[in-house]
Amino acid sequence: MRQVHPDENDYKSLASLKCPLCESTFNATSKLHEHIEIDHDVHLEVMSKVFESVDEFKKWKSVIEKENLTSFTIHRVNGNRSYYGCHRSGSSRLTGTGKRLKWSHSSKIGSRCPARIVATNIEGHITVDYCKTHVGHSKSIKFLHFTKEERDELAGIIKIGVTFDRILDEIRESVVSNENIHGLHIVDKRDLYNIVRDYELDRDVVHKNDAFSTEMWVQEQMALGEDSPVLYFKMQGCEKNDDLLKDDFMIVLMTKYQQDVLSKYAIDKVCMDSTHGTTEHDFQLTTMLTIDEFGAGCPVAFCISNRIDSVAISQFFKSVKGKMGPFPAKILMSDDAPTYINSWTKIMCKPQHHLSILKYIKLAAHSWKFWMLNNFMSL
Ligand SMILES: [Zn+2]
Ligand SMILES: [Zn+2]
Repeated sequence: MRQVHPDENDYKSLASLKCPLCESTFNATSKLHEHIEIDHDVHLEVMSKVFESVDEFKKWKSVIEKENLTSFTIHRVNGNRSYYGCHRSGSSRLTGTGKRLKWSHSSKIGSRCPARIVATNIEGHITVDYCKTHVGHSKSIKFLHFTKEERDELAGIIKIGVTFDRILDEIRESVVSNENIHGLHIVDKRDLYNIVRDYELDRDVVHKNDAFSTEMWVQEQMALGEDSPVLYFKMQGCEKNDDLLKDDFMIVLMTKYQQDVLSKYAIDKVCMDSTHGTTEHDFQLTTMLTIDEFGAGCPVAFCISNRIDSVAISQFFKSVKGKMGPFPAKILMSDDAPTYINSWTKIMCKPQHHLSILKYIKLAAHSWKFWMLNNFMSL
């Protein structure tokens, strides 16, 4: 029997040397390993290896981590010797900040898994003592951390502006069999978001953070079912079975109150108005208004999109029609651009009159836009 114990005092804390199979604690790793083998009759498989360079060692480490669905994190460095422990070792109380715990449960088992790597660097040659037996936890994909290399790689991809959805698609496509599952294959959007935070990429990918929070908000709203104000939603980078392109963004919003107003008044007059550059991402806000009995413009639906051509406006109208059914307005008011009248005629039906937008409606629209921006855009 051979023990991995190049340094008896490699872990200072007694609490961190708790046996994963009983309540015993130890003051040296070698004693814990001896206890596991003798008292619990668990054989700890140990091997030695020599690598010609640090790179070669890192490659090997990355391979065994993927093969064993684990991750070895550095616990301590003493002179030319580095101690890597199983990432499941340690106290769950000490993991992460409150913010992080909100995202994921702790992976820590509250005791010391004996699996570890002790690497000694002698003039660039790395001698390794590797205990490959894990005790006290199963191989859980859920708790697998990314290796440093994988996180670096992901951070790099995020930084050059590849969307989260595209990254996730590529990762999923690369899964060919269960044996192939390792950290990168079970990444989800929250992991990517954590990488953005940890690598302080926020400045570079601020719009993706916005997109993420928008998506979270939309998901919450969608959960309201019939009462959801979201009639249509498309993230940039995902494909939908309609006329919008992969890189298009659109959200169509209509509250229950607006639906009531629309059914009450829109038979007569509908007014369309778009404003450019409502957010720093240069998205545009298109408002559908109707005119109430006092002649005031009431917004009945909003569309925020990256473009306001006939494809986008048609999708806006389709979404409203999907909720409200077709409604034949007698008068459509808009600016001189043919986009609105053409799309309305195509999706709803041809109105009796098309009027160029009136000044007072513009004013009303702008005051509502202000309200809308305050209420929806500060998400
Ligand atoms: Zn024990
Ligand atoms: Zn372990």
